[in-house]
Amino acid sequence: MIVVMNPKVTDSDIDIVRKELESKGLSVHLSQGSTYCIIGIVGDASNIDPDKLLTFDGVDKVLKVQHPFKKANRLFKPEDSIIKVENTLVGGSNLGIMAGPCSVESEEQIIEIAKKVKASGANFLRGGAFKPRTSPYSFQGLELEGLRLLKLAKKETGLPIVTEIMSTDYIDDFVREVDVIQVGARNMQNFDLLKQLGKTDKPILLKRGLSATIEEWLMSAEYIMAGGNENIILCERGIRTYEGYTRNTLDLSAVPVVKRLSHLPIIVDPSHAAGYWYLVEPLAKAAIAAGADGLMIEVHNNPQCALSDGQQSIKPESFDELMKKIKVLAEIEGKNI
Ligand code: PEP
Ligand code: MN
Repeated sequence: MIVVMNPKVTDSDIDIVRKELESKGLSVHLSQGSTYCIIGIVGDASNIDPDKLLTFDGVDKVLKVQHPFKKANRLFKPEDSIIKVENTLVGGSNLGIMAGPCSVESEEQIIEIAKKVKASGANFLRGGAFKPRTSPYSFQGLELEGLRLLKLAKKETGLPIVTEIMSTDYIDDFVREVDVIQVGARNMQNFDLLKQLGKTDKPILLKRGLSATIEEWLMSAEYIMAGGNENIILCERGIRTYEGYTRNTLDLSAVPVVKRLSHLPIIVDPSHAAGYWYLVEPLAKAAIAAGADGLMIEVHNNPQCALSDGQQSIKPESFDELMKKIKVLAEIEGKNI
């Protein structure tokens, strides 16, 4: 349920409504802009009488919210959320371009790639240190050493770092060492991990699960937000379908659907959606045209020898060419990098 207040309402009127709701055991989420003031009710509002609320000064309307997600809901917060990562913004008119290898492999590798993607216009460095691999015999990542190398690359380039967490065991290390904590597709419904991340104030990149509906995905965001952390960037990375010529099927419609349902920024990862390097450019361009708030792209200086996902990684030169086109598309969409 949301209580739409008159935009010119006084603080004390807001306070009276807030106290009324809190006395019923509910928590409230206030969202105020120059033209609106909304009190979102979080929790089971079945014991609330909308007619009674309408008698309070400053209350214009009381609306039932159909969706199970509340804090992530655009009705709770009409304007786009903009996530601040150090001096870089993602959301609104700001594109977040996250580029780098699937896995951090060595100091030379990550620093070389970081310098190149930065020169082409990326504003984040991605790189996996803890890797969720299908086979236990595949490269599992450099783990804590990988975080250390990412930090070295950040020191060289200034790019904030995005890397995946797989276990609650390492939350303290990630909070200390990382700028954006990625929750991968396989962990989208690891509710224990989501709850723990909700207690931090770190920006979270929440990827869509392999077979997750948009509603399940937004409910995962809600888990993090319910804990108090509202710094979430969503990432569409393709969903599992019957199609065999691509690794996954990029669900581009998720971009406008999420934008309608939620105020959270949404970026697109064409690399994991496609599974093949030659599909990355067309899908990346389509994502920006569809209104995405950014991209996550796997870039490797030597894809043939990559320890993971070489087949879908583009070379720094191709990334550079792609970025020239992305900048033109961004301008059409009224966005900047
Ligand atoms: C990744 O970003 O390297 C990754 C493993 O992605 P996903 O969780 O989308 O498969
Ligand atoms: Mn990968």
